[in-house]
Amino acid sequence: MNGATDHFWEKAQRWEELVEQCRALALDVQFPTVQAWKQRTGGQAVGCFPVYTPQELITAAGALPVNLFGARGQIDIDHADSRIQSFVCSIARSTLELGLAGHLKWLDGFVVPSICDVARNLSGVWKHNFTEGFLFYMHLPQNVDSDAAKTYYRGELERLCDCLSDKTGRPVAEAPLRKAISVFNRNRSLLNELGARRSAQPEKWPSSHIYAIVATGNVLSREEHNALLERALALGEASLRPKRDAVRVVLRGAFCEQPPLELLEVLEDAGCAVVDDDLQIGSRFFLEPVAETGDPLNALVEAYLHGTVLTPVNNPGKRSRNDDLLDRCKKKGIQGIIFASPKFCEPALYDAVLLRRAAERSSLPTLEFEYEEKMSVFESVRMQAETFVESILFFS
Ligand code: SF4
Repeated sequence: MNGATDHFWEKAQRWEELVEQCRALALDVQFPTVQAWKQRTGGQAVGCFPVYTPQELITAAGALPVNLFGARGQIDIDHADSRIQSFVCSIARSTLELGLAGHLKWLDGFVVPSICDVARNLSGVWKHNFTEGFLFYMHLPQNVDSDAAKTYYRGELERLCDCLSDKTGRPVAEAPLRKAISVFNRNRSLLNELGARRSAQPEKWPSSHIYAIVATGNVLSREEHNALLERALALGEASLRPKRDAVRVVLRGAFCEQPPLELLEVLEDAGCAVVDDDLQIGSRFFLEPVAETGDPLNALVEAYLHGTVLTPVNNPGKRSRNDDLLDRCKKKGIQGIIFASPKFCEPALYDAVLLRRAAERSSLPTLEFEYEEKMSVFESVRMQAETFVESILFFS
């Protein structure tokens, strides 16, 4: 992989070829496309911890936002356990390990939103251990329906703009911010299109394939990722795949730490057609396009307070996570819900209990298990998923 300058997606002739290249890039802890982007543009690269980091601001400051999802099981934890507890989620430990092992030397700054206690602790540990780049801890508003939340969150965005301007030497002006919003809107619209095609024909658009294609957006500029997604939509449409019996499921719990790709493949092999999920939700956490007219900061405030995908780490305000999940299930003809939570992730594990009760009240079958980045044996999950599928096919 020589980096983004090669535009590997333009050369790919078949869907499988593109997926294979995306998969290799998504798992590459050398971040070749980020390093290539920096060499090419002379700009800075800013890490974004999941979820709800306002990446449009980073782009508008002339920097490259890079979603950091830990090491995706590609490195051993040799140093991080001496700085952070071993009983926290893998993403916190392996993100720290990436830094300590020297894989993030290209990183000029790191934005960590206040999604949970582990993220807060990670930000503190990061600040002590890495003094060269900046660390920005962003306090997200809790009472999203309060009038004060607007002023408060706008203040947080302005604080981040000031920090970015200070580090990049480029003020976050209105025109580039509007342009960034437009590019991100286009990105979400292409991602939604991929999701819609998968929902209509899951056998043609396997989730494990889509996952790899979406993952490249974490390490490419959004313009490049938009071009890649357009190519993916064209190649995917032209690919031929046999129809197979599968039950339509939604996957919940993977909004922050990501499961190993093999886990998605195991679920699909077992007969689960994943037609909705919260995987890599940091790339598409606004439900509707952000307004491209008017004050761009206010547009981002409005979108965050009232238009985000609901996860266990944001406050739903007047909306309900239970209703949201059940509505999606109804609209998409979902036959079962899989709660896959990262080990030690309290927000996901607590939320799964409440959502599972709501699902069961609606007579929707559920399956629940935990995963971690370094998981390498999937037989237990395979057996559970096969039993789950059979119980839906034969007893529902
Ligand atoms: S995986 Fe869960 S506990 Fe870990 S940082 Fe993310 S939200 Fe927090």
